[in-house]
Amino acid sequence: MADDATPIAPTPIAPPQYETDEPVLYEVRGAVAIVSMNRPKFGNAQNNQMTYALDAAFMRAAHDDAIQAIVIKGEGKNFSAGHDMGTPGRDAHVPIEARRSPWYNSTDKPGAEQLYVREQEIYLGMCRRWREIPKPMVAAVHGACIAGGLMIAWISDFILASDDAYFMEPALHMGVPGVEYFAHAFEMSPRIAREFLMLGEKMNAQRAFDVGMVNRVTTREALDEDAIAIAEKLATRPRFAMALAKQALNFVEDLRGKRSAMDGVFAMHHLAHAHNAMTTGTIIGGQTPASMKALNKDQA
Ligand code: ZN
Repeated sequence: MADDATPIAPTPIAPPQYETDEPVLYEVRGAVAIVSMNRPKFGNAQNNQMTYALDAAFMRAAHDDAIQAIVIKGEGKNFSAGHDMGTPGRDAHVPIEARRSPWYNSTDKPGAEQLYVREQEIYLGMCRRWREIPKPMVAAVHGACIAGGLMIAWISDFILASDDAYFMEPALHMGVPGVEYFAHAFEMSPRIAREFLMLGEKMNAQRAFDVGMVNRVTTREALDEDAIAIAEKLATRPRFAMALAKQALNFVEDLRGKRSAMDGVFAMHHLAHAHNAMTTGTIIGGQTPASMKALNKDQA
């Protein structure tokens, strides 16, 4: 660096205005823990407050011997609209004591380092951690399941969708080649994954079932009870055999390259964020929450 070069300063971060103290609900039904994303006003957009509450809920279920299966669902009209891009509760700061990965504090770091470290912790790191919970997880998906919402569904062992559900990956519109947890070509065939990612169009529940991403489709009215019924059945299986079966399937996926593919694509994802910041001044290619919402509406 030349002597007179000015390093790019860290992005200033405004304090968040949280609309709730309970961004995640936790309920126990017999041997099943029901974890529910609870920001219905914002389509269950995932801010850090929710991410860490999800982590606390998942670890509570994982560490409680009385719990043998987990259901993950969303309150209100949608499963999840994705990562929080601009609600009043958007929060970039994660206190160092809250961190779950070995990555250091990101908030005060300059240039591309800030986002790379931040997303290692809250997106890739958290999703990998949740995928490895040794108890079966059932996602009950209704309404919108977009971008970061896909990541929550994809770390689950079962995906049950109501007939009103749709799945969508609009990352290319934001100048990045997919969400941080790049499981696309493992959740559906590489051929369909190309279409899902490159066109970025809505995929309805029936098509998601047809391409193998969703296990079963049910009605909106029956969704929660059907998800709990699957979880209750899973909860009757021998605990250790279930944990090993889950580990075995994760192991097979990783032998097929899932883990290393994600590491490689994560680097591309951050090349894209940095490129966007250099060329448009924003990490998401000049998009705003409003422009992304309009894009979503266009496809209705
Ligand atoms: Zn990102």
